[in-house]
Amino acid sequence: MAAIRGSLRCWWAPITTAPSLDGQPSIRRAATIAIHEIGHNCGLDHHGYDEGIDCVMTADTELDCLERLDEGTHRFCRACQSVVDRKLA
Ligand SMILES: [Zn+2]
Ligand SMILES: [Zn+2]
Repeated sequence: MAAIRGSLRCWWAPITTAPSLDGQPSIRRAATIAIHEIGHNCGLDHHGYDEGIDCVMTADTELDCLERLDEGTHRFCRACQSVVDRKLA
């Protein structure tokens, strides 16, 4: 797999294996982060929380925390999904 381009400006990747709030490693979080980083690898950037878009690419290096990550969606919005579909096709 190619180097993940987004990882330098995205703090999500290093916390993939951090324990969740109840102390258990979170498979769901690991999956969410993997999907998010695939999005970066396809050239997607973050959505801001103020955009109100329900998308796994919604992130903010100032605002993000594990709680936000665990509450967020693991899916792409329609616009991001179409970019990923084109890249991975
Ligand atoms: Zn990111
Ligand atoms: Zn999106």
